[in-house]
Amino acid sequence: SARHQGKNQILFFDPQLTERAQRRLTQEHDILQGLEQEQFALFLQPQIDMASGKLVGAEALLRMRQPDGSYSLPEELIANAEEIGVIGALGRWALEEACRVLAGWQKRGIPLPLNVNISALQLRESGTVWHLQELLERHRIRPGSLVLELTETAQIGDAAQAKSLLGALQEAGVAVALDDFGTGYANLSYLHQFRSLPISKLKMDRSFVSMLPDDDTMVRIVAAIAEITDLGVIAEGVETEAQRDWLLARGITIGQGYLFDGPLSLADFEKWLATLSPSEVC
Ligand code: C2E
Ligand code: MG
Ligand code: MG
Ligand code: MG
Repeated sequence: SARHQGKNQILFFDPQLTERAQRRLTQEHDILQGLEQEQFALFLQPQIDMASGKLVGAEALLRMRQPDGSYSLPEELIANAEEIGVIGALGRWALEEACRVLAGWQKRGIPLPLNVNISALQLRESGTVWHLQELLERHRIRPGSLVLELTETAQIGDAAQAKSLLGALQEAGVAVALDDFGTGYANLSYLHQFRSLPISKLKMDRSFVSMLPDDDTMVRIVAAIAEITDLGVIAEGVETEAQRDWLLARGITIGQGYLFDGPLSLADFEKWLATLSPSEVC
């Protein structure tokens, strides 16, 4: 069979590879066409002060509109965009849209911060910091109100590279939160590294929150790290009252999850926001 006839032929005749290459081409086309035809949207999920019930922020989550009018989830899309090399274009769209939303709030005197997820790959691309500076200036965004959620600072580069990049972001007025904190960090000396980075918050991974209240080991470890490093915590994936109550009893007050709201379309979020009095926000 072809498998025994040499390396090149294996690649050439591998029907799976051809299929994969074909799929990549289709995905690249879909993403680029989606950008062109404005098929992307940011859904917003509220972040709540669980003690007071106040709305204290929101996270923007990418969605792509499907021909049938439904919206697809972003995980595979983001992974594909990174692999294909179009994450920069997609990420720039998300940042532009987020700044447009933020500028609207600020014009109406709403001091809500907005979190946007950013791929380490995109952050590493030269020009990203410059683009962020330009965006913040053009939309007159209040410093600190755009927060980038970053999953792995290790992917930015070594400690020195991470420090200079995050330092530049801070100077530009962009805050950084560590997303899915507690997953994917291989060693404790990593903690020492980000201790010196300009990071404002840890987002406790929802897999740990989901173990509450039966198993609180991981949540307590993350809470202790946050305390020692002087960082605020946001609990992700709060789904039950028992989880909320456990977190509140331990002083973790900011939460995000289905117990409060899932990601809402921009129109639904804005409609809801308009019903809140200033004392119910921030
Ligand atoms: P993430 O940043 O950790 O976002 C949280 C995910 O948890 C979201 O999934 C959200 O819908 C979901 N979630 C929120 N509350 C709950 C809950 O109570 N229970 C459960 N089970 N899930 C909850 P989503 O929207 O599918 O996003 C998945 C991931 O895709 C995000 O994880 C983020 O890493 C990435 N992502 C989303 N938007 C963007 C973007 O604009 N750019 C980049 N680079 N990545 C993005
Ligand atoms: Mg996030
Ligand atoms: Mg997360
Ligand atoms: Mg995640």
